Amino acid sequence: MADAAVRVSGLSKQFGDVCAVDDVAFYVARGEFMALLGPSGCGKTTTLRLIGGFERPDRGRIEVGGRVVAEGRTFLPPERRRVGMVFQDYALFPHLDVARNVGYGVRSGSTRAARVGEMLELVGLGDLGGRMPHELSGGQQQRVALARALAPRPEVLLLDEPFSNLDATLRARVRGELREILTAAGATAIFVTHDREEALSLADRVAILWQGRLVQVATPNELYRQPATVEVAAFIGDADLLPGEATGGYVGCELGRLPVCPPTHGQVRVLIRPEAVQLCADPNGSAQVVAREFYGHDQVVVVRLPSGRLLRARLGPWATFQPGDCVEVGIDGAVSVFPNDVAPTAT
Ligand code: ATP
Repeated sequence: MADAAVRVSGLSKQFGDVCAVDDVAFYVARGEFMALLGPSGCGKTTTLRLIGGFERPDRGRIEVGGRVVAEGRTFLPPERRRVGMVFQDYALFPHLDVARNVGYGVRSGSTRAARVGEMLELVGLGDLGGRMPHELSGGQQQRVALARALAPRPEVLLLDEPFSNLDATLRARVRGELREILTAAGATAIFVTHDREEALSLADRVAILWQGRLVQVATPNELYRQPATVEVAAFIGDADLLPGEATGGYVGCELGRLPVCPPTHGQVRVLIRPEAVQLCADPNGSAQVVAREFYGHDQVVVVRLPSGRLLRARLGPWATFQPGDCVEVGIDGAVSVFPNDVAPTAT
């Protein structure tokens, strides 16, 4: 990717015995929205802070806008990297009003006021330039933080858990707004999250970190359909695993002969997503419903297969299966499989 806004390679950072970031390499294209996703402690924030210049790497190279900002003895401080950072707690200056917060990083001159006005309009706070940060809601504070980070026209915006301080209802709304604002600004952004839905719904591509290592970078769709490892599969969505034997484009397992993508051979674990499972009421069916969790917009029905293994089906709210019902189980679409190198586990 020639036109990368950010490119890291061989990036490593150790804290004492902990290898927080281990030989990580990826790029973010201009205008792209990239999520860094993974479980707590996997190195997401450290990676973001290394790119921002808030940590110094032990090894590796970081380029921002085609310029090396960290490698060997080269280490540019945050203010010389052309990065904008939105911190988890927004870190607004409490003694400055909204307009001054937004204008903080913009060079003083005749165009500063216009740039501040433009940014406030962009984030929908055109009338609130004179307010103090404590007079704003959480969502408004976040938009000020975003406007402040975008105002100096950074090469890339770095956002650390941007929604963690918002309640669930506000979070859903602000997510969409953030995406619209960044698209309108033509911004490149990297955001850290441990929330899979947030990453899948917002990002153009998602980078999965696991114990300091980058295990997969893919579009949300690819990630969900073709996770690189069983751990990634289970982390980004509900998954049940069944033993099977693959022969090219098909795998034989307890649920019959299922198409596999990509084709493979040998003993495998078959990944079954609950939303791919179809149930058909049948008094002679070989599986039995054992539990049902109703969520309103959907429900999860748990069935016991003849082997005794449990399998989850995510169904619409209108399905009326009850514990004790006998059913036939079908699978919609192709499944993914993983080499059978460890004992099958279900999540
Ligand atoms: P979370 O989702 O919980 O914020 P994370 O994926 O962002 O986690 P990091 O904050 O990058 O993970 O931490 C990676 C590892 O490095 C963790 O084991 C953490 O304890 C350790 N670590 C991070 N910063 C420091 C530090 N300044 N000193 C010592 N250890 C640190």
